[in-house]
Amino acid sequence: MDTIQNNAVASVHYTGTLPDTGEVFDSSEGRDPLVFLVGHRQMIAGFEEEMMGAKVGERRTFTLEPERAYGHRQEENVTTFPRAHFAAVEAEVPLEVGMTLVADMIDGPRPFSILAVDEETITADFNHQLAGKSLTFSAEVVELRAADETEVSHGHVHGKGGVIH
Ligand SMILES: [Zn+2]
Repeated sequence: MDTIQNNAVASVHYTGTLPDTGEVFDSSEGRDPLVFLVGHRQMIAGFEEEMMGAKVGERRTFTLEPERAYGHRQEENVTTFPRAHFAAVEAEVPLEVGMTLVADMIDGPRPFSILAVDEETITADFNHQLAGKSLTFSAEVVELRAADETEVSHGHVHGKGGVIH
């Protein structure tokens, strides 16, 4: 397997920047490369689409509009909680705007950031922090191999850079 295609295990080095400001929001530089199984929704769709067909050693740079990245912000993802629910947290650290916490929801733990704090309530934003933003990626393919049958059926990579089980 010598190009990025469905059911390839791809190792890439990448840097993500916000095109408006040039701010780096994420990068694998100085770390191990990111390893993912192509075609199994492990990555945002736009990233995989832009990298399809790339060879080892090839670098691609592209900008994704929000539709192909983390989507648009949705106001229904903003909600308020009684501040008293966070008394245990608040005993440890002051609640501040911009802070990230995790709420225990019916469908499991979900992270949110604090939009506002007042006497009685906190306003929680469950939108992804990159929702509504265009993102520029520069990514280089470091290694490629075919996934084995178990990886394809599990929908993730096993071993180095992947799931150990
Ligand atoms: Zn597995």
